[in-house]
Amino acid sequence: MKETLAQLLQLDRDFVLPTYGRELMLVRGEGSRVWDYYGNEYLDFGMGISVCNLGHCHPAVTAAIQEQAARLVHCSNLYHNELQARLAAVIAGLSFGGKVFFCNSGAEANEGMIKFARRWGSRNGARSEIICASHCFHGRTLATLAATATAKYREGFAPDMGGFVFATYNDLQAVRDAINSNTVAVMVEPVQGEGGVHPASKEFLQGLRQLCDEKNLLLLLDEVQTGMGRCGHYFAYENFGIVPDAISLAKALGNGFPMGAFVIRSDYASLFAPGVHGSTFGGTPLACAASLAVFRTMEEENVIDNVRQMSRYLFARLEELKREFAMIKEVRGLGLLIGLQIGDKVKELQKACLDQRLLVLTAGEGVLRMLPSLKVSREEIDLACQKLRQALLKLA
Ligand SMILES: *Cc1c(COP(=O)(O)O)cnc(C)c1O
Repeated sequence: MKETLAQLLQLDRDFVLPTYGRELMLVRGEGSRVWDYYGNEYLDFGMGISVCNLGHCHPAVTAAIQEQAARLVHCSNLYHNELQARLAAVIAGLSFGGKVFFCNSGAEANEGMIKFARRWGSRNGARSEIICASHCFHGRTLATLAATATAKYREGFAPDMGGFVFATYNDLQAVRDAINSNTVAVMVEPVQGEGGVHPASKEFLQGLRQLCDEKNLLLLLDEVQTGMGRCGHYFAYENFGIVPDAISLAKALGNGFPMGAFVIRSDYASLFAPGVHGSTFGGTPLACAASLAVFRTMEEENVIDNVRQMSRYLFARLEELKREFAMIKEVRGLGLLIGLQIGDKVKELQKACLDQRLLVLTAGEGVLRMLPSLKVSREEIDLACQKLRQALLKLA
């Protein structure tokens, strides 16, 4: 027996914890398009929050998952698996040649990066405090919540884990002022995603690198949302001409197959030894097969070139809309991580876009966030802008 949509939604209400406000039920995806229960087609400019970056069900990733699922799904990290070794080499080669730890989500990747900083600090002056930025978002586990600036995420979950302080994003002096003898690291996103699509300024990130060198601190970058080509390079830090001490990755790493990782500079690798950190599911053959297919596809299909070209095109189209509609106060972002500053009406605008069958996200305070596929086409951008324009006209 197949349930009706109403019955399924009832099951959801009865048995799923209501941690999300949602209406739409999606059943299928292909490229930049998804279909709901009734077969209605939507243009997806959210891509599962920058996860399915190569498009839904990319054939190369699907084939890799299918093949590996029939060979070896999981063997635990008590044994080597060839795909993990190969994937780590790819990630190291594309980043700063560091060493990789595999896990399953963004929060977990950040947890690992935080543990790395604390372990290094424990041997370098017994320091443990990490400076984070205003409006940052690092995840929902207790440590990453404590590292997240916005208090509403922490409400009701006291006591907060200690060891984190906050300084204003893009304000180098504020970070400098927050440093004390217990400071071990600075952790920021190169572009704040959830916090409202705020890119770091070049001066800020370069200044942070200098400051960290000067004060013997680690520079940790949360690239969970910005990594994997989203910002016009494999990793967003490449836009800024700096090299961090560690990065965390997740979201798009497996194009929808859950996966996270953190990468540290190899000079620090001796802080880790068997038993120091671990994960049952981290870097399974299946996850690594998906991720290897992602990296292969990015090369083969020149995905990053497309990001740069389509970024310029989408920014130009959105600036046109901004000139037409006073409701759009600012268009900002980096690569294909783009925010429109809207204000109070952002939820209404998101709903009006949904009515036009365009999926977009919100972020921070009053920001409409767009995260199209990195393979998005000019035609899809035109269609999205046409739908957004219709939505704006409805609200005007
Ligand atoms: C999504 C996100 C996280 C959390 O990732 P999860 O996989 O949900 O744990 C952390 N940091 C940033 C910047 C993110 O965008």
